[in-house]
Amino acid sequence: MSAPERVFIGLGSNLAEPTEQLRQALHGLRQLPATQWAGVSGLYLSDSLLPGQPRYSNAVAALDTTLAPLALLDALQRIENEQGRVRAERWGPRTLDLDILLFGERLLDEPRLRVPHYQLHLRPFVLYPLAELVPGDFTLADGRALSELLRACPFQGLERAGELA
Ligand code: ATP
Ligand code: MG
Ligand code: MG
Repeated sequence: MSAPERVFIGLGSNLAEPTEQLRQALHGLRQLPATQWAGVSGLYLSDSLLPGQPRYSNAVAALDTTLAPLALLDALQRIENEQGRVRAERWGPRTLDLDILLFGERLLDEPRLRVPHYQLHLRPFVLYPLAELVPGDFTLADGRALSELLRACPFQGLERAGELA
């Protein structure tokens, strides 16, 4: 059997009681096959990147999995769908978004899956919760130091709002 890989999942919701959506999603992540729970960040509230949308609840979860990347993506999309995700417009409001931020040491550039997540470095609501789950000298699979990404991405439009679990 292959060794488990540490993956980080970015969670976001801005519809239908967003923080409860995240709690329910964490429950779904704990049930994933071939996967061990490795922790979750605090709860963050963030302004939407697009004007006129409700605020988001965000968090990052860490899992150790032997699932293949596309099998994990399938499972995450099932959880999104179970929680009523409707893809109407790109970046529209959503009950639940589950993005694979990092998958072990892998660099993936496939039609369905790009890892590290292509906008991770631009998103404070991803970088700050991620930083709670890794050592201070953490480096991404592509060699970027998380500390440098944090330096370039101000804690702006973001609020840490207690614990999720
Ligand atoms: P963004 O990708 O900018 O965060 P989004 O999360 O709202 O936007 P979705 O509608 O959730 O976008 O996903 C669109 C497609 O992105 C998915 O069908 C999936 O195949 C693809 N995708 C590519 N890379 C990833 C990744 N790292 N994690 C999740 N989905 C990804
Ligand atoms: Mg997303
Ligand atoms: Mg997504």
